[in-house]
Amino acid sequence: NIKLASRVTSIRVSPSTAAAQKVRDLQAEGRRILNLTVGEPDFDTPDHIKAAAIRAMEGGETKYTSVNGTVALRKAIQHDFATRLGIDCELNEICVGGGAKQVLFVALMATVEPGDEVIVPAPYWVSYPDMVIANGGTPVVVPCGEEVGFKLTPEVLEAAITANTRWVILNSPSNPTGAAYSADELRALGQVLLRHPHVMVLCDEIYDRIWFADFEPCSILTVLPELKPQALVVNGVSKSYAMTGWRIGYGVGPVALIDAINKLQSQMSSCPSSISQAAAAAALTSDQHSVEEAVAVYRQRRDRAHALINAIPGLSCRLPDGAFYLYPSCAGLIGKKTPDGRTIRNDLDFSLYLLEAAGVASVHGGAYGLEPYFRISTATSMEIIDAACAAIARACEALD
Ligand code: PLP
Repeated sequence: NIKLASRVTSIRVSPSTAAAQKVRDLQAEGRRILNLTVGEPDFDTPDHIKAAAIRAMEGGETKYTSVNGTVALRKAIQHDFATRLGIDCELNEICVGGGAKQVLFVALMATVEPGDEVIVPAPYWVSYPDMVIANGGTPVVVPCGEEVGFKLTPEVLEAAITANTRWVILNSPSNPTGAAYSADELRALGQVLLRHPHVMVLCDEIYDRIWFADFEPCSILTVLPELKPQALVVNGVSKSYAMTGWRIGYGVGPVALIDAINKLQSQMSSCPSSISQAAAAAALTSDQHSVEEAVAVYRQRRDRAHALINAIPGLSCRLPDGAFYLYPSCAGLIGKKTPDGRTIRNDLDFSLYLLEAAGVASVHGGAYGLEPYFRISTATSMEIIDAACAAIARACEALD
């Protein structure tokens, strides 16, 4: 009978975590499940990064570091932002946390008060609304449909801003859609924000190295450096370097915000793992060959899954610009009946049907705030993608 705080009771366990648990439960019962719910690279962390961590341990880098991260790691981040994105920053404009997730959470904790609004374009990464709620704020979900490429437009942004707006969250490339903003699109959004200096932009660019589009990856600060006082750009090593378990993410933003994040972190965790920081610094500064190889594999899988899904009557899917997800529409199958007579009323029914009838685990679009879709991950082998798409095709064909 523990009395829990409303910040806990008002939020959900992440639906992707719940879906992954369901897969594990079914597998434990002996069912063969083709798992397309995975949100992390299926590659192992490259050996040269592991070697850097071992060197750090052997060299005694096993103590607390400064709250805001080691100078070596912040210099690596500074160099990466400058060379890859054309964003110049000082070392005191960088914070390092236990994953991008923690940086995002603490940034909201540092700035959001009850009554404050955070604009969350949908479909969104499942954690954003709950992170806002856990910090006492109000998520303002704005639908960004397929007709606008699942992206926020300047008009919709302008209309969503009120006197209480603190943040707008941009995630490019996006989880779950893979859609990425072009330089022109970012400039247009940034110009709206320059007219509303009380609104900040939280740019989650965790997937920006897993990039397939023929336009260059860029950040809002690449195109509008004058927006710097209003922006926190967040990234990390989890996805690009297959380092999800190492828990290192970072942010670049105005000093007052970075100081506030560091102050909270000083009371929460003191600092991220010293060993992981050494590994992350090595990841950012060493040869990027392993990233290029992984991206080439993700691209092949994206192309294959995209073609196979689009060949299934009733499903349709945009080509993702980046990340390792596809977000197909199942609008063409809503209202159909399963062989045992149940109606597919929505995307949750559809993804449960896929699990039961096809043994394919996906996450329903409702979890990301825009229906009727489902998310599939390509962070799995081509064999599983092929088998899963074939099973999905058979299950869809059986609908009446
Ligand atoms: N942002 C998005 C959009 C993600 O999909 C994820 C992980 O699923 C994260 C942030 C979290 O990354 P990290 O492992 O650095 O906490």
